[in-house]
Amino acid sequence: MKKYALVTGGSRGIGRAVCVKLAKMGYDILINYANNASEAQKTLNLVRQTGQDGELLMFDVSKREQVVRAIEAWEMEHANDYIEVLVNNAGVRRDNVLVFMAEEEWYNVLDVSLSGFYNVTQAILQSMLVHKYGRIISLASVSGLKGQPGQTNYAAAKGGIIAATKALALEVARKNITVNAVAPGFIETDMTEGLDEANLKKDIPVQRFGKPEEVAELVGFLASHEAGYITGEVISINGGLYT
Ligand code: NAP
Repeated sequence: MKKYALVTGGSRGIGRAVCVKLAKMGYDILINYANNASEAQKTLNLVRQTGQDGELLMFDVSKREQVVRAIEAWEMEHANDYIEVLVNNAGVRRDNVLVFMAEEEWYNVLDVSLSGFYNVTQAILQSMLVHKYGRIISLASVSGLKGQPGQTNYAAAKGGIIAATKALALEVARKNITVNAVAPGFIETDMTEGLDEANLKKDIPVQRFGKPEEVAELVGFLASHEAGYITGEVISINGGLYT
């Protein structure tokens, strides 16, 4: 039986670094992406360089039917394997002040981050319950803990993930499944491209943006067997920006 880790939004940024970290921990990796097949392929190449294998799995996390179809098809082809680690990482940002926020900007962010959590986690959870083991780690944000102006949609989505994490953790703890969230501050990825780093880092005690690999180390620890007594937690990784 092979044990897999599924990382949503594994094609770029934090998701890519998480794929590589989990591969180094001995998992074969299911690399989900929505649009960017060439970047997802680059992640797969990096996974293979660790000596593990992986597969690309394209679906839009916000589209329930696509998610269920892709995961059911994978499970049919891999009757003896199972997904032991799920990292809900896919996310988008559509910043605007609420007074001007279009309905589409609100729902797009909620649909990808928060409904994505429901769609993917529910599709995987049954199998984790049967195997009586699992690790679920979701990417929240400092924005979901303290709020940021221009991000009511994103803050609501990430705050929702934190609350859902705490509730689900209580539902499945007896089955050896831990459910946690990580809440990064500013991390150097496409998502923060174009932000005024020189100005923003003045407010970060560590005086720099974080690296995707630093977030991946934390996710890797929460995914490990050794982290089995941590559940329902949200762990910040933000250079001291918010404590
Ligand atoms: P990123 O560089 O913009 O990458 C986003 C990833 O999500 C890509 O792999 C993208 O796939 C995927 N994705 C987007 N929409 C999707 C959908 N509907 N279905 C499936 N995949 C989808 O983002 P990042 O900075 O690495 O952020 C990763 C996570 O960390 C997000 O949840 C984000 O909110 C959170 N976070 C980031 C920061 C930061 O400073 N960077 C801070 C706090 C929290 P494609 O390549 O196919 O487009």
